[in-house]
Amino acid sequence: MKRLDTSASHIVQRINHPGCPKSHPPTTENHASYSREIPGLNIALFSRREWIKAMSAAAVMAGYVTFAEPQRKGVRSYHRCLAPNIVTSDQQLVETVAAAGIDTIWLAGFFYGHRPFSDDLLKRAMAVVQRHGMKAELINVPLGHPGDSLGSKEGDFPLTPPAHWLPAVRPDGRQFVGTSLHEPATAENCEALRSLRAHGFRACFLDDDFRLARSPGEIGGCFCDQHRTRFLQTRGYPASQWQQLLDDIAERRNTSTLQAWVEFICDELSSSFHAQQQAFGADLGIMIMYLGAEKAGIRLNDYRRVPFRVGELMFNDESFGSPKGKTDELFSVLFHRRFADPKRAFSETTAFPADKLSARNMAAKLIISTLADVRHTMFMSGVTPFPHAHWETLAPAMKTQARFHEIIAGHKPHGPFKHYWGQSERSVGTDQPFSLWLALGVPFEVVETLPSEGWTFLTDFDARDLTSQSTTANARLVCRTSAANRPAQALVVEESLPALFAFKRSICAQLGNAPYIAENEPAVCAWYPTANATMVWNLSDEPRDLTLVHASKKHPLRLGPLAADVVKL
Ligand SMILES: [Zn+2]
Repeated sequence: MKRLDTSASHIVQRINHPGCPKSHPPTTENHASYSREIPGLNIALFSRREWIKAMSAAAVMAGYVTFAEPQRKGVRSYHRCLAPNIVTSDQQLVETVAAAGIDTIWLAGFFYGHRPFSDDLLKRAMAVVQRHGMKAELINVPLGHPGDSLGSKEGDFPLTPPAHWLPAVRPDGRQFVGTSLHEPATAENCEALRSLRAHGFRACFLDDDFRLARSPGEIGGCFCDQHRTRFLQTRGYPASQWQQLLDDIAERRNTSTLQAWVEFICDELSSSFHAQQQAFGADLGIMIMYLGAEKAGIRLNDYRRVPFRVGELMFNDESFGSPKGKTDELFSVLFHRRFADPKRAFSETTAFPADKLSARNMAAKLIISTLADVRHTMFMSGVTPFPHAHWETLAPAMKTQARFHEIIAGHKPHGPFKHYWGQSERSVGTDQPFSLWLALGVPFEVVETLPSEGWTFLTDFDARDLTSQSTTANARLVCRTSAANRPAQALVVEESLPALFAFKRSICAQLGNAPYIAENEPAVCAWYPTANATMVWNLSDEPRDLTLVHASKKHPLRLGPLAADVVKL
């Protein structure tokens, strides 16, 4: 058992490795390292009838109503994801997290064709959790992450799906395992979910390997013979359309063929989710990677009614440390909250490696959830728990954010700056958001279509898409200098704090009745008019004296490093 647990630990560590491809911007180098050559495949085709039947079954994925409300009073709840062997072996940790205010421990169960933890171990872990007054729920890793450890072995436990699971094929013909969806992957996930449900789990999350792109920014899907034939047949395309698709993907062209492909891969993933949901018979949730969307097979609209973990990144001090690291993370969360109901929204509050995100930065991540009204915080760190001492910082921070959240909950941020992430970015973009404007201390709101007032910040692929549209004539658009093609009337600002603060000074007199931060210091200012409140987050690692200007009033604020406060207006 000891050997099994140890081996399994490596699995969890790799799976939850936030430095693994799920979180890296795509580069030629890291893509190359994820793939391996696997010789000849023999794949049976779905019949068209089977496929259409599966698609209609997946058309609506209703959520279950059993998803448990937090045990404690208040809107905010806190969760920790742990391997069962940690729960049974580290009594002190379990006591610490319970005392800190953790409601639920999510235990790792099924791993892409493997069950590394025995039923007995899971039962014992559940009992420990419940004895400490917390709920025990399940997290599965359904497809496996692609990663640079592909093909390697640890102990006697494989780090990849079993050999009878088929690899996926890239557009260039190279093959890879992980995030590959071919039968029997769904069938075996369903079987595991039925079995694990019998333990009494009432909710299960699918980890963020449940996607069809290896990393953010990749236009995903599998390009094997089976998928090519199915795509062409179900869409009524001639064989020649395939090369057109490959060219569109290579050039990131948002064509009707490419849209058909994105729909096709979304149909596949949603169909698998629906089957697993039916098998589990209780709440099944999806964890979505950083800016995860349709080009990764994740049709966000399909998951509006299920537990939904918003995609974050920045799992260590190096990546989270800069204002841009923080605004990128906030940007992704705000985008996903367009689809996730606050009550079903979970954060990805992850440290990786476990000791590489300081307690102070981890506490700062809690603020992002408050700002965006994400009600549940999911602490994760792979199999190695982050240092126990972190909880001395986290416990009071959790209580502070819970208190702020009571004021913010149910209210939407409103303001002259507009957060926009359009169809083009979702379908063919590289997931490099223009986000640093969130640090200007000017209120913002999330929009789904271009508004005619305020300033809408466009990321490069959306900017390219809008160059040919005339509907934007009255909208004030702001592009960054990296947008090679952009609407003629758009302002152009470099994505740097000095350039953006210069832009802020140029438009400050036009902010109307919106409160804003007077100083040119990086800070997020979220305004909730219906709560008559503003939340201000100091993005500096040093204390800052800031001034919240609202009409004729000036509210002085002294905020500690990375600290936030709520100001009633
Ligand atoms: Zn395939």
